[in-house]
Amino acid sequence: MKSFPHLLAPLDLGFTILKNRTLMGSMHTGLEEAENGYQRMAAFYGERAKGGCGLIVTGGIAPSEAGRVGKDGSVLDSLEVALHHKPVTEAVHREGGKIALQILHTGRYGYHDKIVGASTLRAPINIFRPHPLTEEEIWKTIDEFATCASLAREAGYDGVEVMGSEGYLINQFIARRTNNRTDDWGGSFENRIRFPLEIIKAVRKKAGKDFIIIYRLSMLDLVEDGGNIEEVLQLAKEVEKAGTTIINTGIGWHEARIPTIGMMVPRAAFTWVTAKVKGHVGIPLVTSNRINTPEVAEEVLARGDADMISMARPFLADPDFVNKAEAGKPEEINTCIACNQACLDHIFVGKITSCLVNPRACHETELIIEPTTKKKKIAVVGAGPGGMSCASTLAERGHEVVLFDAHSELGGQLNIARRIPGKEEFKETIRYFGNKIQRTGVKVHLGKKVTADELISGKYDEVVLATGVVPRIPSIPGMEKANVLSYVDLVLNGKPAGKNVAVIGAGGIGYDVSLYLTDGGHPFTKENYLKEWGINTSISENGGLSVKQEMKSNRKVTMLKRSNNKFGSTLGKTTGWIHKTSLEDRKVAQISGVTYKEIDKEGILIEVKGKDQKVEADTIVICAGQDPNRELLDSLEKAGVNVHLIGGADLAAELDAKRAIDQGTRLAARL
Ligand code: FAD
Ligand code: NAP
Ligand code: SF4
Repeated sequence: MKSFPHLLAPLDLGFTILKNRTLMGSMHTGLEEAENGYQRMAAFYGERAKGGCGLIVTGGIAPSEAGRVGKDGSVLDSLEVALHHKPVTEAVHREGGKIALQILHTGRYGYHDKIVGASTLRAPINIFRPHPLTEEEIWKTIDEFATCASLAREAGYDGVEVMGSEGYLINQFIARRTNNRTDDWGGSFENRIRFPLEIIKAVRKKAGKDFIIIYRLSMLDLVEDGGNIEEVLQLAKEVEKAGTTIINTGIGWHEARIPTIGMMVPRAAFTWVTAKVKGHVGIPLVTSNRINTPEVAEEVLARGDADMISMARPFLADPDFVNKAEAGKPEEINTCIACNQACLDHIFVGKITSCLVNPRACHETELIIEPTTKKKKIAVVGAGPGGMSCASTLAERGHEVVLFDAHSELGGQLNIARRIPGKEEFKETIRYFGNKIQRTGVKVHLGKKVTADELISGKYDEVVLATGVVPRIPSIPGMEKANVLSYVDLVLNGKPAGKNVAVIGAGGIGYDVSLYLTDGGHPFTKENYLKEWGINTSISENGGLSVKQEMKSNRKVTMLKRSNNKFGSTLGKTTGWIHKTSLEDRKVAQISGVTYKEIDKEGILIEVKGKDQKVEADTIVICAGQDPNRELLDSLEKAGVNVHLIGGADLAAELDAKRAIDQGTRLAARL
C-alpha cells in the first residue's frame, strides 16, 4: 500500500484548515454558460469535493462585461447572479470541501468588441484591439474585482482566486510587453504592479479577513519582454503584504509558443519555477503543470518545491483522485494523459468540456452508471480503449462479461500510440482500464481471435464489437516491395527503417510516425524538453526565454499527401501547432498535392502539379488512414445476435480514443 504523507497533510491557513495539499486548478468547462449550468456545475464540483479534493477553484468568471472570455462569457456583478451560484457552493460544502471562485478579467484576450487593456496593443491570438483603460476606468475595474469577491462571498464561496497570469489583464499591466503607459500605472516595475496590488487590497477590504485570496502569479511568462525572477520575487512579496492568503503559480502566456501542459511536456516540468520563490514569502505556495499522479505530487512536496499541488485536468479524469491516494490505491486512479482532446480542444470550439479517459466529466447529470436490474451475459470483442471501457463499465454494473482480444496484451492501438515519443502517457490509460477490468471481474481471453461461430454458440445476450480498424493500404504499383512498411510494422513490431524515409499520409498517425522517425535518440527528459523549447531556467530575462537547441535528427523524412490543404490541418486544436513546430525543427520535408505513381527500391515516384518527381527513400511507411474492422458483423447479424459496434469498428474516419471510450461507456450504461 502506497502512502502520500506530504500530499495528504492538512494545511492551516490561519483562519481555516484545508484537509490536504491538493488544489483543483481553475478550468473553464463551458457549464458556466450552459442550460442548467449551475445544477451541472454543482454535480461536477460536488463529485470532486466528495472525492477528497482540498480546495476547488472554479472556472474563470469575469468581474465585468469588459472582462468576459467571449460575448456570452459569465459575469458576477450582481446579487441576483450570486444567488444562482448557491447550489454550487452548497454541493461542495455538503461534501466537506472548500471552493473559491476565480475572478478572471481577460483584458486583451477577451473575444468580443468591448475589450480593454493596459494599452492598445492587440494580442497576436486575437482579432480585437483593446481600449486602453483610463485612470478612472482603472479604479472602476479595481472596484469591480472587489465587488465580485464580496458577491462570491454572498454566494457561499470560501474565497477567490485573482487571476494574475497567463497573459490576462493583470499580467498585461505587469509586463513591459503589453504595458507602454506613461502614467503612474506604467513605466517602472513598481508602477506596473500597482494594478494587482490595489486589486488585492480592495478585495481584502471588501470581502473580509477570513476569506481565502489566492493570487495566481505569472512566474514564467515565456514571451518576449516578459518578466524576470527578480521581478517575480518582488511581486510575490508585495502580493503577500497586500493581503493574499495563497500564491498559485502561473506558467506561460496563452500567446507563448512553448507547450506547457501538452502530453509531450514531461511530468512536473515546472515545479523548479515555484521552488525559486520558496523561502521568499511566508504564505503557502502552490505549484502546477503536468502533475498527474500522487507519486509525482508527493515527490514535489517532499522535495520542498511548494506547499500545495494544483491539478486541474487530473480531476476531470478522476474525481476520486485524492480518496484513492488516501486509501493507498493509486493504481485505481484514472490518470489524465494531458491529451487536451476533450477538455481544451472542446472549449476552443465552443463545446462543453469532458475528458477522453472519463466521459462522465462535466456530464455527471446525464451519464449515470447504475447497477443493472437485469444481469446479462455479454461478450466484448476487442480490448482497445472502446472495448476496455465498455467491458469494465458493464461488469461494474453487475453484468457477466467476457472480453476477447487477438493480441497478447490489453490496449489495442494504444499500444502503438504509447510508443510515440511524448505519448507514453497512454500506458496509464491501459493500466487504469486493465486494473478496473480485473477488479470488476471481467473474464479476459487474450491471444484469442474469436470467430463468429464461437460468439453465436456462446449464447450471449449481447455482443459488442470493439474490433477497431484495418490499416488502409493504397494501391500503388510496388507496394509489395520489401522497403514498404505499415505504421504497425514500424512502431509496434519494431521493424527497422533506413536513414531516408518517405511517409505516405499526413493525418495524426503520419505526424506521429514522423516524430517517431526523427526522435534521434533524444530521451524524453525534462532537461531535453527545456533545451528543445528554449526555456532559460535562471529566468534572468525576457520571460524566461532562451535560444532553442536545435533538435538534430539522424534521419531524413519526407511526408507526402494527395490533398492540397495545409499540412497539420486535421491535428488537435490546442496541440496541433506543437507537432507542426517539432517537425519543422527536425527539418521534415512536406509535399502536398501528390499523385503516387510507383514505388521501387530507390524510393517513390510522384507527380506534383503535372511534373514527375522522385522522392529518394530507402524505406516507405504507409500511414494512409484506416477502415473499420467489421469482419464478424454480417454473420452475427444473420444469426440474430444483438450486436453493437463501437470505436473504430463503428467509424474509422476521425476515429479516436475519445470517441471509442465515450461510446463504450455510454453503451455500457444503457445495456
Ligand atoms: P482498437 O484500439 O483498434 O482495438 C481493437 C482491438 O480489437 C485490437 O486489439 C484487436 O486485436 C482486437 N480484435 C479485432 N478483431 C478481433 C477478433 N476477431 N477477436 C479478438 N480481438 C479482435 N487516438 C487519440 O484519440 N489520440 C491520440 O493521440 C492517438 N494517437 C494515436 C497514435 C497512433 C500511432 C495510433 C496508431 C493511433 C492513435 N490514436 C489516437 C487512435 C486510437 O488509438 C484509436 O482511435 C483507438 O485505439 C480505437 O479504439 P478501439 O477500441 O475502437 O479499437
Ligand atoms: P487520417 O487522419 O484519416 O489520415 C489519413 C492520411 O492518409 C491523410 O493524410 C490522407 O491524406 C491519406 N490517405 C487517405 N487515403 C489514402 C489513400 N488511399 N492513398 C494514399 N493516402 C491516403 O488517419 P490516420 O492518420 O490514420 O489517423 C487515424 C485516426 O487516429 C485519426 O483520424 C485520429 O483521430 C487518430 N489519431 C489522433 C491523433 C491525435 O493526436 N489526436 C494522433 C494519431 C491518430 P490525403 O488524402 O491528402 O492523401
Ligand atoms: Fe486530461 Fe485528456 Fe482528459 Fe483533458 S481530455 S483531462 S488532457 S485526459
